[in-house]
Amino acid sequence: MAEHVRVRYAPSPTGEPHIGNIRTALFNWLFARHHGGEFLVRIEDTDQERLVPGAVEAILDGLKWLDIDWDEGPEVGGPYGPYFQSERLELYRKAAEILIGNGSAYRCYCSRELLEQMRKEQTGRNAAPGYDGRCRTLTTEERNDLEAGGGPYVIRFAMPDSGVIGVHDEIHGYVEWQNDLMDDFVIMKSDGFPTYHLAVVVDDHEMKISHVLRAEEWLPSTPRHLHIYNALGYQPPKFGHLPMILGPDRDKLSKRHGATSILEYRDTGYLPQAMSNFMVLLGWSLDDKTEVMTRQTVVDNFDLSRVSRSGAIFDQEKLAWMNGVYIREMDPKDLANLTAPFLAGELENNGLGEKVPIDQDYWSKIVPLIQERIKLLSEVWERTGYFFQDEIDYEPDDDPAALIQKGMDEESVLTALSKSLDCLASAPVFQNQPLEESLRAVADGLGLTPRQFFGVLRTAVTGRTATPPLFETIEVLGRDLVVRRVARAAERLSAAGGNVK
Ligand code: GLU
Repeated sequence: MAEHVRVRYAPSPTGEPHIGNIRTALFNWLFARHHGGEFLVRIEDTDQERLVPGAVEAILDGLKWLDIDWDEGPEVGGPYGPYFQSERLELYRKAAEILIGNGSAYRCYCSRELLEQMRKEQTGRNAAPGYDGRCRTLTTEERNDLEAGGGPYVIRFAMPDSGVIGVHDEIHGYVEWQNDLMDDFVIMKSDGFPTYHLAVVVDDHEMKISHVLRAEEWLPSTPRHLHIYNALGYQPPKFGHLPMILGPDRDKLSKRHGATSILEYRDTGYLPQAMSNFMVLLGWSLDDKTEVMTRQTVVDNFDLSRVSRSGAIFDQEKLAWMNGVYIREMDPKDLANLTAPFLAGELENNGLGEKVPIDQDYWSKIVPLIQERIKLLSEVWERTGYFFQDEIDYEPDDDPAALIQKGMDEESVLTALSKSLDCLASAPVFQNQPLEESLRAVADGLGLTPRQFFGVLRTAVTGRTATPPLFETIEVLGRDLVVRRVARAAERLSAAGGNVK
């Protein structure tokens, strides 16, 4: 590619950073990095009524979390700033003047009521709603009168009544639109702010954008943009419209399908590397099979020829699976650090606030036990709560009968518990392997299968039926806690007496 690549991500700060929107950012970033070009962030804040406080920060946080850095834009500046459209109004005003001057745009004085009436009348006779162009043909005299009235006006683009306009889309191929199906759209509102259509063209031109890569929903706006480019005598950039992101039911991804804000994913414990890898596959592929890829592999290979035209399905299960893959690959120390805030939050929620700050040494021994098993950082509490609780519950309903394994009765469980207690209390070293050996010998001595004996022990010390390897768990829990829990299990079972099933 000969030309110098400059691409932009142009979010409107109207809410939480949506997955689809951030996917656009990611694809632009990848394209820029692949071609050694620049990636810009431009904030499209001209729709004053829809601005949401904090939205810009949230969007930038989303980018930073995913390690998508920008060469020009908010916080970093750059030679083509300012990068907030609300600070560039003069440029749009000038462009609108040029368009009026060369007959490509005109002032429209029609009131809201009039437009509403027009719309009603059009729908009444089954015609497509749209501005009928009445202010386009005002005589100079009429125009002067209206001007003198001092009432508000908008500026509209004078759309050609016939012909077609087309463009080669880098993803969709050649696309063409009929001019007479598009009305004279507003380019400048009565509050002096441009509409998206004008601002986007002026800025993409002024910022020397080479490729506009954006979501497919903007494809229908492209002919309007092309007309503005032509009318201003600007060379349009190249366009590529990225496929829609769909829910599993093939409807456009929405809240109905689950979380749509990238920050929600961060907060439920997805890793940015996994999220980013997953999003890359929402519309792009390296080949027919590779799913897990480093960022560098994607940068090295990213091109538009492998961006699909059809919608990309957002598959939560695949995302969770991928997150698990990345979690397993992590250095356990990093995983301990990343999961600590999730654990701390849950300790607080469960009345164990006195255990915060977390004993890092203890936590770093627990984390390797669950690393293979978790898919989400936020799962740590359900997986490790029993390492922190003073009193544990026995799954499923805290009935001590859970201690009684198949083929055993209360008495044999009590014997198993008491023999285990002796062994655990007197073990010369409290370590996984020697403990396993001596406890196996206890099981043999009692004529119990490992399944029965370790089942009793597992329930007594964790309350769970499924845990990480039992003896590693016992070693990490430590002698005091384990001995206390085994004694407590015997106590609870005897107290329940004949009441157990
Ligand atoms: N401000 C538009 C948005 O929020 C940008 C569309 C475009 O990239 O041209 O998606």
